[in-house]
Amino acid sequence: MALEAETKSIVAKFDYTDDDVNKAVDEFLRQMGEGLEKDGTSLSQIPTYVTGVPNGTEKGLYMAVDLGGTNFRVCSIQLNGDSTFNLTYTKVAIPKELMVAKTAEELFAFLAKQIELFLKTHHEEQFVAHIRRRMTVSSPDGFRDENVFRLGFTFSFPVQQIGINKGNLIRWTKGFDIPDAIGKDVCALLQIEIDKLHLPVKVAALVNDTVGTLMARSYTAPGKTGAVLGAIFGTGTNGAYVEKLANLKKPLTGEYDKSTGDMVINTEWGSFDNQLSVLPNTPWDIALDKTSVNPGIQMYEKRVSGMFLGEILRLVLLDLVKNPNVSFLRDDNSNSNDWKSTTTIAQNSGIYTPWGLDTAIMSVAAADNTPELSTLRQELESTLNIYSPAYDDAQAFKAIAGAVARRAARLAAVAIAAIVLQTGKLTDPASADEPIDVGVDGSLVEHYPYFRDMIYETLRIIKGVGGEGAKRIRIGIAKDGSGVGAALIALVAANMEKNTTP
Ligand code: BGC
Ligand code: MG
Repeated sequence: MALEAETKSIVAKFDYTDDDVNKAVDEFLRQMGEGLEKDGTSLSQIPTYVTGVPNGTEKGLYMAVDLGGTNFRVCSIQLNGDSTFNLTYTKVAIPKELMVAKTAEELFAFLAKQIELFLKTHHEEQFVAHIRRRMTVSSPDGFRDENVFRLGFTFSFPVQQIGINKGNLIRWTKGFDIPDAIGKDVCALLQIEIDKLHLPVKVAALVNDTVGTLMARSYTAPGKTGAVLGAIFGTGTNGAYVEKLANLKKPLTGEYDKSTGDMVINTEWGSFDNQLSVLPNTPWDIALDKTSVNPGIQMYEKRVSGMFLGEILRLVLLDLVKNPNVSFLRDDNSNSNDWKSTTTIAQNSGIYTPWGLDTAIMSVAAADNTPELSTLRQELESTLNIYSPAYDDAQAFKAIAGAVARRAARLAAVAIAAIVLQTGKLTDPASADEPIDVGVDGSLVEHYPYFRDMIYETLRIIKGVGGEGAKRIRIGIAKDGSGVGAALIALVAANMEKNTTP
Protein backbone atom coordinates (compact mmCIF):
# COMPACT_ATOMS: atom_id res chain seq x y z
CA MET A 1 0.00 0.00 0.00
CA ALA A 2 2.38 2.64 -1.24
CA LEU A 3 -0.25 5.37 -1.07
CA GLU A 4 -1.16 4.59 2.50
CA ALA A 5 2.46 4.59 3.63
CA GLU A 6 3.24 7.79 1.77
CA THR A 7 0.15 9.46 3.21
CA LYS A 8 1.23 8.48 6.70
CA SER A 9 4.66 9.94 6.21
CA ILE A 10 3.19 13.21 4.86
CA VAL A 11 0.74 13.45 7.74
CA ALA A 12 3.65 13.03 10.17
CA LYS A 13 5.37 16.04 8.61
CA PHE A 14 2.45 18.17 9.77
CA ASP A 15 2.69 16.99 13.37
CA TYR A 16 3.13 19.86 15.77
CA THR A 17 3.89 18.20 19.09
CA ASP A 18 2.90 19.31 22.58
CA ASP A 19 6.49 20.29 23.12
CA ASP A 20 6.53 22.41 19.93
CA VAL A 21 3.32 24.09 21.06
CA ASN A 22 4.72 25.00 24.47
CA LYS A 23 7.93 26.39 23.00
CA ALA A 24 5.88 28.48 20.58
CA VAL A 25 3.75 29.92 23.41
CA ASP A 26 6.92 31.08 25.21
CA GLU A 27 8.23 32.64 22.03
CA PHE A 28 4.88 34.29 21.32
CA LEU A 29 4.94 35.92 24.76
CA ARG A 30 8.50 37.08 24.16
CA GLN A 31 7.64 38.60 20.77
CA MET A 32 4.55 40.28 22.26
CA GLY A 33 6.73 41.95 24.87
CA GLU A 34 9.19 43.07 22.22
CA GLY A 35 6.37 44.60 20.18
CA LEU A 36 5.11 46.56 23.18
CA GLU A 37 8.54 48.11 23.59
CA LYS A 38 9.54 49.23 20.15
CA ASP A 39 8.43 49.66 16.54
CA GLY A 40 9.50 47.49 13.63
CA THR A 41 9.18 44.13 15.40
CA SER A 42 7.78 40.89 13.98
CA LEU A 43 4.59 41.16 16.06
CA SER A 44 3.63 44.78 15.47
CA GLN A 45 1.47 45.27 18.61
CA ILE A 46 -0.28 48.34 17.19
CA PRO A 47 -1.96 50.68 19.70
CA THR A 48 -5.54 51.32 18.53
CA TYR A 49 -6.41 54.33 20.74
CA VAL A 50 -9.49 52.39 21.81
CA THR A 51 -9.30 52.35 25.60
CA GLY A 52 -12.28 50.32 26.67
CA VAL A 53 -14.83 47.77 25.55
CA PRO A 54 -18.60 48.40 25.46
CA ASN A 55 -21.06 47.04 28.00
CA GLY A 56 -24.18 46.52 25.90
CA THR A 57 -26.04 49.75 26.72
CA GLU A 58 -24.86 51.65 23.63
CA LYS A 59 -27.59 53.00 21.28
CA GLY A 60 -27.98 54.57 17.84
CA LEU A 61 -27.99 54.04 14.06
CA TYR A 62 -24.58 53.72 12.42
CA MET A 63 -23.07 52.55 9.19
CA ALA A 64 -20.14 50.21 8.83
CA VAL A 65 -18.15 48.91 5.92
CA ASP A 66 -15.77 46.00 6.03
CA LEU A 67 -12.98 45.50 3.54
CA GLY A 68 -11.87 41.96 4.26
CA GLY A 69 -9.67 39.59 2.33
CA THR A 70 -12.46 38.31 0.11
CA ASN A 71 -15.59 40.43 0.45
CA PHE A 72 -16.67 43.99 0.90
CA ARG A 73 -19.63 44.39 3.20
CA VAL A 74 -21.73 47.48 3.70
CA CYS A 75 -24.14 47.60 6.61
CA SER A 76 -26.23 49.81 8.80
CA ILE A 77 -26.63 48.84 12.43
CA GLN A 78 -29.26 49.85 14.90
CA LEU A 79 -27.79 49.38 18.38
CA ASN A 80 -30.72 48.85 20.72
CA GLY A 81 -28.90 49.46 23.98
CA ASP A 82 -29.82 46.10 25.48
CA SER A 83 -27.04 43.96 24.04
CA THR A 84 -29.07 43.45 20.87
CA PHE A 85 -28.85 45.05 17.46
CA ASN A 86 -30.51 44.99 14.04
CA LEU A 87 -28.29 44.80 11.05
CA THR A 88 -28.96 45.31 7.34
CA TYR A 89 -26.17 44.43 4.98
CA THR A 90 -25.01 43.75 1.48
CA LYS A 91 -21.91 41.85 0.48
CA VAL A 92 -19.94 41.79 -2.77
CA ALA A 93 -16.91 39.77 -3.68
CA ILE A 94 -13.97 42.09 -4.27
CA PRO A 95 -12.98 41.79 -7.93
CA LYS A 96 -9.56 40.09 -8.12
CA GLU A 97 -8.16 42.78 -10.42
CA LEU A 98 -8.92 45.48 -7.87
CA MET A 99 -6.82 43.65 -5.26
CA VAL A 100 -3.80 44.37 -7.42
CA ALA A 101 -5.00 47.63 -8.99
CA LYS A 102 -2.47 50.23 -10.16
CA THR A 103 -3.88 52.99 -8.00
CA ALA A 104 -5.56 53.09 -4.61
CA GLU A 105 -8.22 55.30 -6.19
CA GLU A 106 -9.53 52.43 -8.33
CA LEU A 107 -10.20 50.29 -5.27
CA PHE A 108 -11.64 53.04 -3.07
CA ALA A 109 -13.88 54.38 -5.85
CA PHE A 110 -15.37 50.90 -6.11
CA LEU A 111 -15.97 50.85 -2.35
CA ALA A 112 -17.69 54.26 -2.41
CA LYS A 113 -19.89 53.08 -5.26
CA GLN A 114 -21.03 50.12 -3.14
CA ILE A 115 -21.87 52.49 -0.29
CA GLU A 116 -23.98 54.57 -2.68
CA LEU A 117 -25.83 51.48 -3.90
CA PHE A 118 -26.49 50.38 -0.34
CA LEU A 119 -27.90 53.76 0.68
CA LYS A 120 -30.15 53.90 -2.37
CA THR A 121 -31.47 50.43 -1.66
CA HIS A 122 -31.80 50.41 2.11
CA HIS A 123 -31.96 54.01 3.25
CA GLU A 124 -33.71 55.70 0.37
CA GLU A 125 -35.54 58.14 2.63
CA GLN A 126 -32.42 59.57 4.21
CA PHE A 127 -30.67 59.51 0.88
CA VAL A 128 -33.37 61.46 -0.95
CA ALA A 129 -33.72 63.90 1.94
CA HIS A 130 -30.03 64.52 1.76
CA ILE A 131 -30.09 65.16 -1.99
CA ARG A 132 -32.95 67.65 -1.49
CA ARG A 133 -31.04 69.48 1.21
CA ARG A 134 -28.00 69.64 -0.98
CA MET A 135 -30.10 71.36 -3.64
CA THR A 136 -31.55 73.94 -1.25
CA VAL A 137 -28.70 74.58 1.17
CA SER A 138 -26.01 76.89 -0.07
CA SER A 139 -23.16 75.28 1.83
CA PRO A 140 -22.38 72.12 -0.10
CA ASP A 141 -20.73 70.30 2.73
CA GLY A 142 -23.83 69.80 4.87
CA PHE A 143 -21.79 67.44 7.03
CA ARG A 144 -22.79 69.07 10.30
CA ASP A 145 -26.12 67.57 9.39
CA GLU A 146 -27.76 65.30 11.95
CA ASN A 147 -28.71 63.01 9.10
CA VAL A 148 -25.21 62.30 7.99
CA PHE A 149 -24.31 58.72 8.70
CA ARG A 150 -21.32 58.12 10.92
CA LEU A 151 -19.44 55.23 9.39
CA GLY A 152 -17.05 52.81 11.01
CA PHE A 153 -14.51 51.54 8.50
CA THR A 154 -13.31 48.02 9.18
CA PHE A 155 -10.08 47.65 7.31
CA SER A 156 -8.55 44.22 7.72
CA PHE A 157 -4.93 45.05 7.05
CA PRO A 158 -2.06 46.37 9.18
CA VAL A 159 -2.39 50.10 9.72
CA GLN A 160 -0.33 52.49 11.82
CA GLN A 161 -3.15 54.16 13.65
CA ILE A 162 -2.70 57.88 14.33
CA GLY A 163 -6.12 58.60 15.75
CA ILE A 164 -9.63 57.17 15.85
CA ASN A 165 -10.31 57.90 12.13
CA LYS A 166 -6.82 58.21 10.77
CA GLY A 167 -4.26 55.57 9.96
CA ASN A 168 -1.58 54.83 7.40
CA LEU A 169 -1.36 51.49 5.64
CA ILE A 170 1.78 49.60 6.69
CA ARG A 171 1.59 46.70 4.26
CA TRP A 172 -0.94 44.71 2.31
CA THR A 173 -1.57 41.08 3.23
CA LYS A 174 -3.63 38.17 1.89
CA GLY A 175 -3.99 38.59 -1.90
CA PHE A 176 -3.76 42.39 -2.00
CA ASP A 177 -0.92 44.31 -3.59
CA ILE A 178 -1.45 47.98 -4.48
CA PRO A 179 1.89 49.68 -3.75
CA ASP A 180 0.36 53.12 -4.40
CA ALA A 181 -1.64 52.87 -1.15
CA ILE A 182 1.24 52.08 1.20
CA GLY A 183 1.84 54.84 3.76
CA LYS A 184 -1.43 56.60 2.93
CA ASP A 185 -4.31 57.33 5.30
CA VAL A 186 -6.96 54.82 4.27
CA CYS A 187 -9.79 56.83 5.87
CA ALA A 188 -8.92 59.84 3.76
CA LEU A 189 -8.74 57.65 0.65
CA LEU A 190 -12.28 56.44 1.32
CA GLN A 191 -13.68 59.85 2.32
CA ILE A 192 -12.38 61.43 -0.90
CA GLU A 193 -14.26 58.89 -3.02
CA ILE A 194 -17.41 59.20 -0.87
CA ASP A 195 -17.32 62.97 -1.32
CA LYS A 196 -16.95 62.63 -5.09
CA LEU A 197 -20.34 60.89 -5.04
CA HIS A 198 -21.80 63.48 -2.59
CA LEU A 199 -22.93 60.83 -0.14
CA PRO A 200 -24.21 61.78 3.33
CA VAL A 201 -21.51 59.73 5.01
CA LYS A 202 -18.63 60.62 7.27
CA VAL A 203 -15.85 58.12 7.94
CA ALA A 204 -15.80 58.44 11.73
CA ALA A 205 -13.69 55.50 12.85
CA LEU A 206 -11.03 53.19 11.52
CA VAL A 207 -11.12 49.69 12.91
CA ASN A 208 -9.21 46.50 12.38
CA ASP A 209 -11.60 43.54 12.06
CA THR A 210 -10.16 41.93 15.18
CA VAL A 211 -10.85 45.08 17.21
CA GLY A 212 -14.40 45.09 15.84
CA THR A 213 -14.77 41.45 16.85
CA LEU A 214 -13.55 42.23 20.37
CA MET A 215 -16.02 45.12 20.66
CA ALA A 216 -18.92 43.12 19.28
CA ARG A 217 -18.29 40.18 21.57
CA SER A 218 -18.19 42.53 24.55
CA TYR A 219 -21.43 44.21 23.47
CA THR A 220 -23.40 41.01 22.93
CA ALA A 221 -21.99 38.85 25.72
CA PRO A 222 -21.15 41.32 28.44
CA GLY A 223 -19.59 39.79 31.52
CA LYS A 224 -18.18 41.73 34.41
CA THR A 225 -15.19 42.71 32.34
CA GLY A 226 -16.00 42.12 28.67
CA ALA A 227 -14.00 39.97 26.27
CA VAL A 228 -10.21 39.84 26.53
CA LEU A 229 -9.47 38.88 22.94
CA GLY A 230 -11.06 39.27 19.51
CA ALA A 231 -9.61 36.97 16.87
CA ILE A 232 -10.13 36.25 13.20
CA PHE A 233 -9.50 32.86 11.64
CA GLY A 234 -10.73 33.48 8.13
CA THR A 235 -9.01 34.34 4.88
CA GLY A 236 -6.31 35.83 7.10
CA THR A 237 -5.69 35.64 10.83
CA ASN A 238 -5.06 38.16 13.59
CA GLY A 239 -6.02 39.09 17.15
CA ALA A 240 -6.64 42.19 19.24
CA TYR A 241 -6.64 42.22 23.04
CA VAL A 242 -6.93 44.51 26.03
CA GLU A 243 -3.49 45.46 27.38
CA LYS A 244 -2.56 47.47 30.46
CA LEU A 245 -1.28 50.90 29.51
CA ALA A 246 1.57 50.37 31.95
CA ASN A 247 2.90 47.53 29.78
CA LEU A 248 2.87 49.65 26.64
CA LYS A 249 6.38 51.05 26.59
CA LYS A 250 6.63 52.50 23.10
CA PRO A 251 5.63 56.15 22.70
CA LEU A 252 2.01 56.98 21.78
CA THR A 253 1.50 59.98 19.52
CA GLY A 254 -2.30 60.38 19.34
CA GLU A 255 -4.86 61.54 21.91
CA TYR A 256 -6.61 58.99 24.09
CA ASP A 257 -8.58 58.60 27.31
CA LYS A 258 -6.20 57.50 30.07
CA SER A 259 -8.86 56.86 32.69
CA THR A 260 -9.39 53.15 32.03
CA GLY A 261 -5.70 52.29 32.29
CA ASP A 262 -6.13 49.98 29.30
CA MET A 263 -5.68 50.08 25.58
CA VAL A 264 -6.75 47.66 22.88
CA ILE A 265 -3.72 46.39 20.98
CA ASN A 266 -3.90 45.03 17.44
CA THR A 267 -1.20 42.36 17.57
CA GLU A 268 -0.96 41.65 13.81
CA TRP A 269 -0.05 38.14 14.83
CA GLY A 270 -0.13 37.04 11.18
CA SER A 271 3.52 38.09 11.24
CA PHE A 272 4.36 36.19 14.43
CA ASP A 273 7.78 34.59 14.08
CA ASN A 274 8.59 35.69 10.54
CA GLN A 275 12.13 34.57 11.43
CA LEU A 276 10.82 30.98 11.82
CA SER A 277 12.41 30.21 15.14
CA VAL A 278 9.47 28.12 16.32
CA LEU A 279 7.05 27.84 13.40
CA PRO A 280 6.97 24.56 11.48
CA ASN A 281 8.42 24.69 8.01
CA THR A 282 7.75 21.86 5.57
CA PRO A 283 8.96 21.96 1.94
CA TRP A 284 5.38 22.93 0.99
CA ASP A 285 5.38 25.89 3.37
CA ILE A 286 8.59 27.04 1.74
CA ALA A 287 7.18 26.64 -1.76
CA LEU A 288 4.00 28.52 -0.86
CA ASP A 289 5.87 31.44 0.62
CA LYS A 290 7.98 31.79 -2.52
CA THR A 291 4.96 32.18 -4.79
CA SER A 292 3.04 34.50 -2.47
CA VAL A 293 2.77 38.27 -3.06
CA ASN A 294 4.65 38.87 0.22
CA PRO A 295 7.48 36.35 0.70
CA GLY A 296 9.09 36.31 4.14
CA ILE A 297 6.22 37.97 5.98
CA GLN A 298 2.90 36.82 7.49
CA MET A 299 4.61 33.48 8.13
CA TYR A 300 2.22 32.47 10.92
CA GLU A 301 -0.78 33.49 8.81
CA LYS A 302 0.54 31.34 5.95
CA ARG A 303 0.32 28.28 8.21
CA VAL A 304 -3.00 29.10 9.86
CA SER A 305 -5.52 30.94 7.72
CA GLY A 306 -8.01 29.97 5.07
CA MET A 307 -6.37 31.63 2.13
CA PHE A 308 -3.28 29.47 2.56
CA LEU A 309 -4.38 26.08 3.87
CA GLY A 310 -5.88 25.10 0.53
CA GLU A 311 -2.69 26.06 -1.26
CA ILE A 312 -0.49 24.06 1.14
CA LEU A 313 -2.75 21.07 0.55
CA ARG A 314 -2.65 21.58 -3.21
CA LEU A 315 1.14 21.63 -3.24
CA VAL A 316 1.26 18.38 -1.26
CA LEU A 317 -1.28 16.71 -3.53
CA LEU A 318 0.52 17.83 -6.65
CA ASP A 319 3.71 16.16 -5.40
CA LEU A 320 1.73 13.04 -4.70
CA VAL A 321 0.19 13.06 -8.18
CA LYS A 322 3.64 13.41 -9.72
CA ASN A 323 5.26 10.78 -7.51
CA PRO A 324 6.00 7.80 -9.80
CA ASN A 325 6.10 5.36 -6.87
CA VAL A 326 2.64 6.12 -5.67
CA SER A 327 -0.67 5.66 -7.33
CA PHE A 328 -2.77 8.67 -6.44
CA LEU A 329 -5.73 9.88 -8.48
CA ARG A 330 -4.84 7.37 -11.16
CA ASP A 331 -6.86 4.81 -12.90
CA ASP A 332 -5.30 1.88 -11.03
CA ASN A 333 -7.02 2.81 -7.76
CA SER A 334 -10.45 2.82 -9.22
CA ASN A 335 -12.65 -0.14 -9.09
CA SER A 336 -15.79 -0.15 -11.14
CA ASN A 337 -17.64 -2.07 -8.42
CA ASP A 338 -17.22 0.60 -5.84
CA TRP A 339 -17.38 3.71 -8.00
CA LYS A 340 -18.55 4.82 -11.40
CA SER A 341 -15.67 4.42 -13.81
CA THR A 342 -12.01 5.27 -14.18
CA THR A 343 -10.29 8.08 -12.32
CA THR A 344 -9.10 11.05 -14.33
CA ILE A 345 -7.95 14.50 -13.42
CA ALA A 346 -9.01 17.08 -15.96
CA GLN A 347 -6.25 19.27 -17.33
CA ASN A 348 -8.04 22.31 -15.94
CA SER A 349 -8.30 20.87 -12.43
CA GLY A 350 -7.59 23.29 -9.61
CA ILE A 351 -4.91 20.83 -8.51
CA TYR A 352 -2.75 22.08 -11.38
CA THR A 353 -3.49 25.78 -10.83
CA PRO A 354 -1.72 27.87 -8.19
CA TRP A 355 -4.29 28.89 -5.55
CA GLY A 356 -6.76 26.66 -7.42
CA LEU A 357 -7.86 24.61 -4.42
CA ASP A 358 -10.43 26.40 -2.29
CA THR A 359 -10.00 25.72 1.43
CA ALA A 360 -13.76 25.07 1.65
CA ILE A 361 -13.24 21.54 0.32
CA MET A 362 -11.16 20.78 3.42
CA SER A 363 -14.27 21.38 5.50
CA VAL A 364 -16.18 18.97 3.29
CA ALA A 365 -13.45 16.37 3.76
CA ALA A 366 -13.45 16.78 7.53
CA ALA A 367 -17.22 16.59 7.74
CA ASP A 368 -17.58 13.50 5.57
CA ASN A 369 -17.86 10.50 7.85
CA THR A 370 -19.77 8.34 5.38
CA PRO A 371 -18.25 4.87 4.94
CA GLU A 372 -17.67 5.44 1.21
CA LEU A 373 -16.59 9.08 1.57
CA SER A 374 -19.17 9.71 -1.10
CA THR A 375 -19.76 13.38 -0.26
CA LEU A 376 -16.08 14.17 -0.54
CA ARG A 377 -15.75 12.16 -3.75
CA GLN A 378 -18.61 14.08 -5.31
CA GLU A 379 -17.01 17.33 -4.19
CA LEU A 380 -13.69 16.32 -5.75
CA GLU A 381 -15.56 15.91 -9.02
CA SER A 382 -17.59 19.06 -8.88
CA THR A 383 -15.00 21.50 -7.60
CA LEU A 384 -11.67 20.01 -8.66
CA ASN A 385 -12.69 18.18 -11.84
CA ILE A 386 -11.29 14.93 -10.58
CA TYR A 387 -13.58 12.37 -12.17
CA SER A 388 -14.51 9.17 -10.40
CA PRO A 389 -11.98 9.42 -7.59
CA ALA A 390 -11.41 6.12 -5.85
CA TYR A 391 -12.08 5.55 -2.19
CA ASP A 392 -8.34 5.30 -1.48
CA ASP A 393 -7.74 8.65 -3.15
CA ALA A 394 -10.44 10.32 -1.10
CA GLN A 395 -9.10 8.74 2.05
CA ALA A 396 -5.59 10.06 1.37
CA PHE A 397 -7.04 13.49 0.55
CA LYS A 398 -9.00 13.52 3.81
CA ALA A 399 -6.02 12.44 5.91
CA ILE A 400 -3.67 15.06 4.47
CA ALA A 401 -6.24 17.88 4.56
CA GLY A 402 -6.99 16.93 8.16
CA ALA A 403 -3.31 17.09 9.08
CA VAL A 404 -2.87 20.56 7.53
CA ALA A 405 -5.96 21.86 9.36
CA ARG A 406 -5.02 20.25 12.65
CA ARG A 407 -1.61 21.89 12.57
CA ALA A 408 -3.37 25.21 11.92
CA ALA A 409 -5.69 24.73 14.89
CA ARG A 410 -2.77 23.87 17.17
CA LEU A 411 -0.98 27.00 16.03
CA ALA A 412 -4.18 28.99 16.62
CA ALA A 413 -4.18 27.71 20.21
CA VAL A 414 -0.63 29.03 20.64
CA ALA A 415 -1.74 32.61 19.98
CA ILE A 416 -4.89 32.35 22.09
CA ALA A 417 -3.05 30.81 25.04
CA ALA A 418 -0.22 33.34 24.91
CA ILE A 419 -2.66 36.24 25.02
CA VAL A 420 -4.74 34.75 27.82
CA LEU A 421 -1.50 34.22 29.78
CA GLN A 422 -0.41 37.79 29.02
CA THR A 423 -3.62 39.21 30.53
CA GLY A 424 -2.87 37.45 33.82
CA LYS A 425 -6.52 36.49 34.22
CA LEU A 426 -5.79 32.83 34.91
CA THR A 427 -3.87 33.61 38.08
CA ASP A 428 -5.69 36.75 39.21
CA PRO A 429 -7.72 35.84 42.33
CA ALA A 430 -10.05 38.80 41.65
CA SER A 431 -11.39 37.14 38.52
CA ALA A 432 -11.09 33.55 39.70
CA ASP A 433 -14.58 32.36 38.82
CA GLU A 434 -15.15 34.47 35.74
CA PRO A 435 -15.04 32.98 32.28
CA ILE A 436 -12.30 34.35 30.07
CA ASP A 437 -14.13 35.45 26.99
CA VAL A 438 -12.66 35.22 23.49
CA GLY A 439 -14.66 36.42 20.49
CA VAL A 440 -13.82 34.81 17.16
CA ASP A 441 -14.97 35.19 13.59
CA GLY A 442 -13.94 34.05 10.13
CA SER A 443 -14.68 31.30 7.65
CA LEU A 444 -12.32 28.80 9.23
CA VAL A 445 -13.74 28.84 12.78
CA GLU A 446 -17.20 29.17 11.40
CA HIS A 447 -17.15 26.41 8.80
CA TYR A 448 -14.30 24.02 9.48
CA PRO A 449 -15.72 21.19 11.60
CA TYR A 450 -14.02 20.66 14.96
CA PHE A 451 -11.69 23.66 14.56
CA ARG A 452 -12.65 24.98 17.99
CA ASP A 453 -12.49 21.49 19.50
CA MET A 454 -8.94 21.08 18.23
CA ILE A 455 -8.05 24.47 19.74
CA TYR A 456 -9.47 23.43 23.12
CA GLU A 457 -7.69 20.08 22.98
CA THR A 458 -4.43 21.96 22.47
CA LEU A 459 -5.11 24.57 25.16
CA ARG A 460 -5.32 21.76 27.71
CA ILE A 461 -1.70 20.73 27.17
CA ILE A 462 -0.30 24.25 27.42
CA LYS A 463 1.76 25.04 30.51
CA GLY A 464 0.04 27.63 32.67
CA VAL A 465 -3.34 26.93 31.06
CA GLY A 466 -4.00 23.21 31.50
CA GLY A 467 -7.36 21.53 31.83
CA GLU A 468 -8.66 23.95 34.45
CA GLY A 469 -7.61 27.03 32.48
CA ALA A 470 -9.02 25.64 29.24
CA LYS A 471 -12.37 25.18 30.98
CA ARG A 472 -12.50 28.88 31.84
CA ILE A 473 -11.64 30.07 28.35
CA ARG A 474 -14.89 30.62 26.48
CA ILE A 475 -14.38 30.90 22.74
CA GLY A 476 -17.54 32.21 21.11
CA ILE A 477 -18.39 33.24 17.59
CA ALA A 478 -18.96 36.98 17.27
CA LYS A 479 -21.16 36.80 14.20
CA ASP A 480 -21.12 40.02 12.14
CA GLY A 481 -18.48 41.09 14.60
CA SER A 482 -16.63 43.53 12.45
CA GLY A 483 -19.81 45.37 11.39
CA VAL A 484 -21.23 45.80 14.88
CA GLY A 485 -17.81 46.50 16.31
CA ALA A 486 -17.12 49.24 13.77
CA ALA A 487 -20.51 50.79 14.56
CA LEU A 488 -19.63 50.77 18.26
CA ILE A 489 -16.38 52.57 17.60
CA ALA A 490 -18.12 55.05 15.29
CA LEU A 491 -20.38 55.76 18.27
CA VAL A 492 -17.39 56.39 20.53
CA ALA A 493 -15.95 58.69 17.86
CA ALA A 494 -19.25 60.57 17.47
CA ASN A 495 -19.36 61.15 21.21
CA MET A 496 -15.79 62.43 21.17
CA GLU A 497 -16.78 64.83 18.38
CA LYS A 498 -19.75 66.12 20.42
CA ASN A 499 -17.51 66.71 23.39
CA THR A 500 -14.98 68.71 21.43
CA THR A 501 -17.22 70.77 19.10
CA PRO A 502 -19.05 73.72 20.71
C1 BGC B 1 -4.28 41.34 8.39
C2 BGC B 1 -4.97 41.75 9.68
C3 BGC B 1 -6.38 41.19 9.72
C4 BGC B 1 -6.37 39.70 9.45
C5 BGC B 1 -7.75 39.09 9.47
C6 BGC B 1 -4.41 39.84 8.17
O1 BGC B 1 -3.89 39.50 6.93
O2 BGC B 1 -2.92 41.67 8.45
O3 BGC B 1 -4.99 43.15 9.81
O4 BGC B 1 -6.94 41.47 10.97
O5 BGC B 1 -5.77 39.45 8.21
O6 BGC B 1 -8.59 39.63 8.51
MG1 MG C 1 -13.43 39.51 7.48
